[in-house]
Amino acid sequence: MKKPLTGAELNELVSGLNRLARNLWWTWNQEAQDLFQELSPRSWQNLFHNAVAVLREVSEYELRVHLQDSEFAGRVRAVLADFQKYLDDRNTWGRKHAPHLHKNPVAYFSAEFGFHESLPIAAGGLGILAGDHCKSASDLDLGFVGVGLFYREGYFQQAIDTNNWQTEYYNPVDPLNVPLEAVRDANGERLVCSVEIGLNVVSFQVWRVNMGRVPVYLLDTNLPANEQHFRDLTTRVYGGDSTTRIMQEILLGIGGVRLLRTLGHAPSTFHMNEGHAAFLTLELIREKMAAGKTFEEAGALTKPECIFTTHTPVEAGHDRFTPELVNYALQRYLANQIIPFNNILGLGRVNSEDANEPFCMTVLALKLSRSANAVSELHGQVSRQMWQHLYNVPENEVPIGHITNGIHLLGWMKGSVRQFWRRKLQENDNGEMKYFREKFGEDWASAINHADFWEKMTNPDFVADEELWALRYKIRRELIEFARRRLLLQSQRASPGDFIRFDHLLNPDALTIGFARRFATYKRAPLIFQQFDNIVKLVRDKQRPVQFIFAGKAHPRDDEGKRFIQQIIHLSKHSELAGSLVFLENYDIHVARQMVAGCDIWLNNPRRPLEASGTSGMKASCHGCMGFSIMDGWWREGYDGKNGFAIGPDTHPDNIVEQDRVDSANLYQALTEQVVPLFFHRDVNGIPREWIKRMRHSMATLVSQFTTDRMVKEYTKKYYAPHSHH
Ligand SMILES: *Cc1c(COP(=O)(O)O)cnc(C)c1O
Repeated sequence: MKKPLTGAELNELVSGLNRLARNLWWTWNQEAQDLFQELSPRSWQNLFHNAVAVLREVSEYELRVHLQDSEFAGRVRAVLADFQKYLDDRNTWGRKHAPHLHKNPVAYFSAEFGFHESLPIAAGGLGILAGDHCKSASDLDLGFVGVGLFYREGYFQQAIDTNNWQTEYYNPVDPLNVPLEAVRDANGERLVCSVEIGLNVVSFQVWRVNMGRVPVYLLDTNLPANEQHFRDLTTRVYGGDSTTRIMQEILLGIGGVRLLRTLGHAPSTFHMNEGHAAFLTLELIREKMAAGKTFEEAGALTKPECIFTTHTPVEAGHDRFTPELVNYALQRYLANQIIPFNNILGLGRVNSEDANEPFCMTVLALKLSRSANAVSELHGQVSRQMWQHLYNVPENEVPIGHITNGIHLLGWMKGSVRQFWRRKLQENDNGEMKYFREKFGEDWASAINHADFWEKMTNPDFVADEELWALRYKIRRELIEFARRRLLLQSQRASPGDFIRFDHLLNPDALTIGFARRFATYKRAPLIFQQFDNIVKLVRDKQRPVQFIFAGKAHPRDDEGKRFIQQIIHLSKHSELAGSLVFLENYDIHVARQMVAGCDIWLNNPRRPLEASGTSGMKASCHGCMGFSIMDGWWREGYDGKNGFAIGPDTHPDNIVEQDRVDSANLYQALTEQVVPLFFHRDVNGIPREWIKRMRHSMATLVSQFTTDRMVKEYTKKYYAPHSHH
């Protein structure tokens, strides 16, 4: 018999679990998630898999009783030990390759961060990338702090009305009920800083997201001291008009620098993730002018401190403000006359003297960065072309480089798939596989970021075709059941009492094609249905059935995007595609993870070259889901002819009507001539050998290449610590 735990032992485990819940490390640790799920499976499922909410649901008494189960307590202890080991490890890539960043960190500014579905403060891929960047900065142990805004209503939740029209609603995010910690000053009081916006001085408080070893600070103006419209400044992600937008950006950039100074951080690099954060350069200039420098001197000293990543060639993605609005929003800030207003306007203009040119945040960021980069090779070319007029040098000399985006692999890997690869590693842990034990020790989390791991793991000597195929069946089934559950809930909300039979919707044997992302029009969600009659034929083929799962949100003011959603839902209910085409409402990180895992094919058909990188397809490969994409963004670099499928050539027509026509024809052709035949070409045992071979090759060539582990290392070598190797 095991001895019951003492009060002191219980206290330690209880406080350990509370600490763990407020560090998002648990979002990429399966065993930790299992603990919280077990404590309250229902809250876990209903409250966006939120460890803090689970601990608030379970009374401390219940938790203590639960911990007297020695098996549970043993697992809690093991997880807490792993967590501590992660935090304490000093034998890390960051300490080896960029030790000075621990004294003078990188300060990474982003208007949105996608960390986890329980903290919905991202609108799309840009935010997800920022979140994954922080996770890998933590894994690598870089000196790194994030700065963003705390939106108390987050990004909108999507519901579809009876006209199949997207409507938006907002769930208030209670900061005490999500994985955040209040930032306090030395006396234990809530830290409050301030920034001048418009005619006012606006106060803000701060929440810290613990992202493993990395802190991310979120600024929040919802304080009684502020006038109501300033309290509302941080209500929603990209909510409101351009006045709200510029004020949010002043808060982020100028407020963010003030906060870091207050906390005693002395960053060596300020990294602007998109132009939204570019006002931070003004504060860096102001600091230097307050210390006696001239405007020119201050600018020249600020530039070496900053780097900038541009994320889109789409015009609407580059904030532009009228000079009047800039003047209004900055008037109190500039009232001390330290920086002259006209000088500031010039920094946001291609032609500083042109009074008619609006103020552009991207121009401000480019003018005040020591380095700037795009997020894929093609996007680098496009950005150099786009901004050549700012530099007046030949296009190939425009100082914008590129680092291709990635994903935080472990965070995106579905639980059942993590288990699979981990088990395979253990099963094979003899003979040649000892190599991994020797190279990575027990640390499978770092092993999976290496090309060697995927090369070995995708070798048929280690994992048989039959096993990979069984894995695909398992996770396709998981996705289909997830979809049926979601569709049932959706329909009950839309028309209560209307019990459609969802249990037979979608076919677990069908080739399952996924499409999920923001419904920005350039992503052309409904492109495939331009070949409607042909698609119906494919779907109706009893021998070789194909089906589609769609999801995504349109920006609240984007009616064309909403029409795309309406069109797809309409087809899913009222056309011959019904039953083989579904639209899942309220796309978020959780829905994304289910889809990139369970689908066989990940469809990506943006209007080239507007998809700067794209990341959702990168999340697919480790699950055996293959890319099927226009040659844009990351796919141009990833695709080698045998590791997925391409739609059309590495060029595009200039005319967009022509482009849509050609692309939809190419899409249909590749689908019918390559994808469908390969998937259904089975041997006598029913195994699609050639398909699986392609899957293996896709894993071996793509998974370790398109990670934020690789990406953050590149940022470090190229931009954060370029001199530390000499
Ligand atoms: C990965 C991801 C995105 C980005 O998808 P793209 O296809 O790169 O546009 C957007 N939203 C969510 C929730 C994601 O997980």
